[in-house]
Amino acid sequence: MPIYEYGCNACGREFETLVRSGTTPDCPDCHSTDLAKKLSVFATAASGGDPAPMATGCGSCGHPDGPGACAFNR
Ligand SMILES: [Zn+2]
Repeated sequence: MPIYEYGCNACGREFETLVRSGTTPDCPDCHSTDLAKKLSVFATAASGGDPAPMATGCGSCGHPDGPGACAFNR
């Protein structure tokens, strides 16, 4: 089920919410439905599982030299 991040155009609140088909999300503070969809957190998380090519590193190893730096230690 997708999770979307919204910004409320009425009060400026930013929040994440599950969106089921056929329903309209509203602001948890002022209950306005005047919202700007920002991004899908679900889609962002799902894109990080690709195998790491040798030349670019894994991008998520937490190496102190930065994401993907582990490639230089092989
Ligand atoms: Zn609001």
